[in-house]
Amino acid sequence: MNYYSTTAPDIRQTSLTEAVVHGMAPDSGLYLPERIPVIPSALFRHISAMPLPDVAYVVTNVLMGDDIPSETLKEIVSNTLTFPIPLEPTSPGIYGLELWHGPTGTFKDVSARFMARLLGHLAKSHPRTGSPLTVLTASSGGSGSAMASGFHGIDGVRIVVVFPRGKVSQLQQAQFASLGGNVSAVEIDGTIDECKKMVHAAFADEELNRKMSLTSGNSINIARLLPQMFYYFHAYARLRQLRPDTVKEEGITVSVPCGNLGNLCAAIIARAMGLPINKIVAACNANTSFADYLNGHGYTPRPTVDTIAPAIDVGSHANFPRIERLYEADRAGGHRYIHGVSLSDAEITEAMRKAYSESGKLLCPQSATAYGALLHTLEPGQCGIYLATGHPAKFSDAVRHATSQTPELTPAMRKLLERERHITHLPAQYPALRKFLLNL
Ligand SMILES: *Cc1c(COP(=O)(O)O)cnc(C)c1O
Repeated sequence: MNYYSTTAPDIRQTSLTEAVVHGMAPDSGLYLPERIPVIPSALFRHISAMPLPDVAYVVTNVLMGDDIPSETLKEIVSNTLTFPIPLEPTSPGIYGLELWHGPTGTFKDVSARFMARLLGHLAKSHPRTGSPLTVLTASSGGSGSAMASGFHGIDGVRIVVVFPRGKVSQLQQAQFASLGGNVSAVEIDGTIDECKKMVHAAFADEELNRKMSLTSGNSINIARLLPQMFYYFHAYARLRQLRPDTVKEEGITVSVPCGNLGNLCAAIIARAMGLPINKIVAACNANTSFADYLNGHGYTPRPTVDTIAPAIDVGSHANFPRIERLYEADRAGGHRYIHGVSLSDAEITEAMRKAYSESGKLLCPQSATAYGALLHTLEPGQCGIYLATGHPAKFSDAVRHATSQTPELTPAMRKLLERERHITHLPAQYPALRKFLLNL
């Protein structure tokens, strides 16, 4: 299968390997598969009895089977999905798909683990230089910790996480600075924007790129986008087990908290592959530019405003070019299966309270946004699923404020906090990062 760039769909096509190693097209476009294959319908006859890794393998094989040997794909998928993803009842007819049981406590663990294993395979089968592939990423927390954990111990690949001093929680810092081995943590005396600038400078440095194989672990990488489809197939399978008749007749409604829209793109692709999704709720906070687009007001990126759901504080959405390619024609044609809903901080807090009082569940503010948006959208008696994207303990202030409960860290998280950290401190100047990379 070839991949095209959203900026030049007809001319620039490339292989899976190039798309994954480069992350972005040379003209800054985002990659998408040249066609979206349809899943054999037999999968849907058996899906509710199948374990998640088997479902994920079928989906991945349909997309990547021409590029990656099936035994390798099976291994990548089963080594990615090593933790449970339960579907939990929250209110009558409403279920949360808990994607946060992985090592760093967000759904990003799934895509980071998948990408790490795929890149490990590609590094082995398409060696570019004698040196290992180096993933370089700037992060102020969530994404960096998932990537560090995902890449830890993968042969032939190493990862460098660049983060701003004083802006990363202790837990997140422990998640990338205590691993060691092929994971390096670099603390910059500067802001996240300065970190990003330094990382950009490294990718633009031709001499450096001749000396070492650098790749970005950016969330726009197609290898992080595609595995997010697993959630929706899994949600369908579990709900069909619980409510076979409704699901068979109507398909499922899913509500997705919207940050850079990676999850949402994956939902659209899963639907295009034949998964019976009848409605997608795009759940936003006070950053309303994407919901406004869905509601017919055109797309106007705006500066980000801070809310109590920080992981979806996005005013200009990295994956919007993909949404345009995947959905714009449907939307313009009047087939609007994605509904935009925006919640205020007060409504998100109220949703956290309601979930707690109805089921004893503590939701992170992003999950509560999806839950609240689903409640707004469903008619009485309908059922739906929201994505629970983060462990509540990673957002404990907001959770405590809403519910007066303090979410507990997992034993694995507590253990991490006690481990020794290895951090390199650098000034916010590119030459310092360059020297560090060349000495790795
Ligand atoms: C990253 C993140 C999101 C946003 O997901 P996108 O795919 O960027 O839209 C939502 N919730 C949590 C907890 C996150 O870490």
